[in-house]
Amino acid sequence: MSHLIISGGTRGIGRACVSLFAGKGYKVSSLSRTGTPDNAVEGVLYLQCDVRDPDSVKSAVEKAVGENGPVDVLISNAGIAVSGLAQDFKYQDYRDVMDTNFGGLFNLAGAVIPYMVRQGKGVILATSSMWGQTGASCEALYSASKGAVDSYIKALAKELGPSGIRVNAVSPGAIDTDMMSGYDDEAKKVICDDTPLGKLGSPDEIAEVMFFLQSDKASFITGQIIGANGGYLI
Ligand code: NDP
Repeated sequence: MSHLIISGGTRGIGRACVSLFAGKGYKVSSLSRTGTPDNAVEGVLYLQCDVRDPDSVKSAVEKAVGENGPVDVLISNAGIAVSGLAQDFKYQDYRDVMDTNFGGLFNLAGAVIPYMVRQGKGVILATSSMWGQTGASCEALYSASKGAVDSYIKALAKELGPSGIRVNAVSPGAIDTDMMSGYDDEAKKVICDDTPLGKLGSPDEIAEVMFFLQSDKASFITGQIIGANGGYLI
């Protein structure tokens, strides 16, 4: 039975991945600050972990491997968004966004790579964002953090391909989760109007892309930033 370690598996896109993979028979370990959520998926190992902290990540990954066995798939998904004018962001905003969105990937990949190299196989996936590719006004820090994710994914794919490890990112457009709670109905309508498919994406639609990318059906895909944005960015 394959083992998925995912960060941010308690809500939104992460929860949809947890639910899909667990339903397909994977052992799933979810790492997030709140640990076990109220709506926990049965059979999933929920571990309290702050992805910004390398020691917290290392110890959670060790616990996950101890409980669920060698890690086959990592999804670095935990993320936060901040919006505002570039000149108004504080240094702490920069730290919070970069340490969570990019630092989380850095810490998680660092913790699982030795296991995957030993096995001679594995898949690393990250949840990026279309704003990392094109940049969003009033989301400069968030965009930069996801740009860093994209570059890291491409570099890791080159470094780890010879060890049998594939590395890709999914780059969603606007997805209907808690992260969109700052957008009122009018703002959401503007996004939908600018999206050829005319709607917000659902967490399940992103989870399905993740599932495909970790499967053997994607065995020749690595180093790619796969857009799932309803055509918003073409
Ligand atoms: P949610 O806000 O719904 O969920 C975020 C998840 O990340 C939660 O499970 C949260 O758990 C976890 N998390 C946040 N900070 C930390 C931390 N320091 N350590 C551990 N876990 C943490 O967000 P989404 O599901 O919308 O977003 C998931 C990913 O998708 C993010 O990387 C986001 O940037 C990306 N994305 C989202 C889009 C959208 O429109 N929703 C669009 C493009 C990309 P807890 O609070 O318990 O720690």
